[in-house]
Amino acid sequence: MQLPAVEVSQSPEDKFREYLASRSRPQRYTGQQRDMVRYIFAQHNHFDAEQLIDDLKRDGYSVSRATVYRTLNKLVDAGLLRRLELGPRMFYEHDYGYPQHEHMYCQKCGKVIEFQNPAIEAVIRNVCREHNFQSGGHSFIIRGTCTECNQARVSKRRLDLV
Ligand SMILES: [Zn+2]
Ligand SMILES: [Zn+2]
Repeated sequence: MQLPAVEVSQSPEDKFREYLASRSRPQRYTGQQRDMVRYIFAQHNHFDAEQLIDDLKRDGYSVSRATVYRTLNKLVDAGLLRRLELGPRMFYEHDYGYPQHEHMYCQKCGKVIEFQNPAIEAVIRNVCREHNFQSGGHSFIIRGTCTECNQARVSKRRLDLV
């Protein structure tokens, strides 16, 4: 499931290149970084660094582990990705060009469900206004058990009763 994209003026690659060039010590946009940015932005996903390293390797890219970790940090800093603390590991997802949304995380199967809810957004806006707080983003994660895992548990219990 993917939410509809948000119109953005620049491609993720251009935005990242601009970010690297705007550093106090400008950095070069390397081939490995280009491969990573293209790979990550080909599809909206919730992924962790280890998963990304495995996927890149499987698809024949040679990107070093250190580069993956370093580049993920830069992509977050550049506003292209955001971090998500779903479980014990850190996950990443597109922020640039993707609408504001919240998450439900199934602790049994690891499924991530995205949803949008105007009432939650309104509450956050109001709370920030009350505290005269300028929001730079938020994370709202509901952890628990998804429908499929719930049903599996219920039918197992029924079998146990038979
Ligand atoms: Zn589940
Ligand atoms: Zn998401």
